[in-house]
Amino acid sequence: MQFIDLAAQQERIRPLIEERIKKVLAQGQYIMGPEVQELEKALAAYVGAKHALACASGTDALLLALLVEGIGPGDVVFTTPFTFIATAEVVSLLGATSIFVDIDPVTFNLDPVQLEQAVQALSGKNEHLYPLPKGAKAASVRARAVIPVDLFGLPADYDALEPVARKFGLRIIEDAAQSLGGESGGKKACAFGDIACTSFFPAKPLGCYGDGGMCFTDSDQAVEIMRSLRVHGQGSNKYDNVRIGINGRLDTLQAAILIAKLSIFEEEIELRQQVAARYTSALLESRVTPPRIPERYKSAWAQYSVLARDESHRSELQTKLKDVGIPTAIYYPKSLH
Ligand SMILES: *Cc1c(COP(=O)(O)O)cnc(C)c1O
Repeated sequence: MQFIDLAAQQERIRPLIEERIKKVLAQGQYIMGPEVQELEKALAAYVGAKHALACASGTDALLLALLVEGIGPGDVVFTTPFTFIATAEVVSLLGATSIFVDIDPVTFNLDPVQLEQAVQALSGKNEHLYPLPKGAKAASVRARAVIPVDLFGLPADYDALEPVARKFGLRIIEDAAQSLGGESGGKKACAFGDIACTSFFPAKPLGCYGDGGMCFTDSDQAVEIMRSLRVHGQGSNKYDNVRIGINGRLDTLQAAILIAKLSIFEEEIELRQQVAARYTSALLESRVTPPRIPERYKSAWAQYSVLARDESHRSELQTKLKDVGIPTAIYYPKSLH
């Protein structure tokens, strides 16, 4: 079997995908064609956000979010060390400082209690728990934002994160690269925080056939600025550039493919619930710890990750599974800190 079987999915909707691609080829609007806006509208409605802004990757989505928040040198962004490099990479790219907050051992998502301790450490409290990175002085840094990651498709604990963020004036940027289709308390992933960012990398829950991403926000002002940042800080026309931005557009062809895939997305998410439930019930009596999904949460199951007893148990499992043709991967082999 495949780790993620994209061919089986393609087989189900091939005529729809081909029809959508043909339409783009016939029209010839490869850059910012009507499909981009069609997808933005459809996904904003799906997640329940006021605005969606398509971009070139999940990494660019995070970059646009940090740029619109004006994050830069001297700013501290709190995040989890248990994630893909892109989450913290964009913070460093902008010259800001990441402080890694430990995770909840059950959900693997950023622990809200430890977030509070980490913010307090900036003013001298709990300094031993969260020492500042080398070279940084507490007096010269400002706590600006937190990037919780919805790891493996499970939304982070926003009910507990939001009051902490409010207390310390932190902006919340939801890294929902893995969680589109997930839910918490009846609210869809990508609808949390001030800005949410997702990825359409092929292996993500909703993937295109290349790179792609999207930002979600309820703020009219933020989406307007991100729209400008997405295209070289564009002003009133192509050669009016009012801020420093990036070339971060989503290709029309990728938007067209995503629109086709969206037609079966909700069903796929439901089928993943059934598969995951079957795995979990079969694993309850085993030596591995299956993923635990808290009440009122739904995972998009970007990965189904089990916890092994230790490294040798893990290698033994990987070998056994490999022998019977079942691929596995370690998520993640190295923590970001
Ligand atoms: C995949 C991923 C990203 C980056 O998305 P790209 O589309 O590959 O740039 C960011 N954060 C997390 C948690 C991811 O899993």
